[in-house]
Amino acid sequence: MSIDPRELDRMVHRERKRVVPPLCPNCGYDLRGATSDRCSECGEVFYLRDLESQEAEHLAKLHEAEGVNELLGIGFKFIVGGAALLLLGIVLGGAGGLAICLGRVIAFGCAVAGLSLGFSVFRFLRLPEDLRNRVTHKPDLRLAVIDIGLGLVMLATCMFLPG
Ligand SMILES: [Zn+2]
Repeated sequence: MSIDPRELDRMVHRERKRVVPPLCPNCGYDLRGATSDRCSECGEVFYLRDLESQEAEHLAKLHEAEGVNELLGIGFKFIVGGAALLLLGIVLGGAGGLAICLGRVIAFGCAVAGLSLGFSVFRFLRLPEDLRNRVTHKPDLRLAVIDIGLGLVMLATCMFLPG
């Protein structure tokens, strides 16, 4: 007796409560409440177990997106700290001094760190809308703009500051 793999798939993966909505692997149609292994929108036939691995992937992305706001906060601290050191270097060293040189190098590193942490907002933004709505700790988009904006300004300042 041979077992039809589709039948087996249906037997094993039926009746599961899903945390994130399953989407058609072909057209992205929301398959919540789908009773067959055929997409009612585009007709694509799929394995229910593929939807499960998709769910695992979505959960991992959700988990990642939950941490973004914290990363944005750390990025902001890097930028404020870097700007403070840059200023301190200018005040202490004057143009061309060792202090200003050091301040510049450290501020440059802080700006790079702040920028890359600011860009972590895309872990949230690139999620499909339905998943985005499921993120409980939504990242503060203003903070992301501040991280990226100030990070760029600080990079430019470090590079083009005379002396
Ligand atoms: Zn489809």
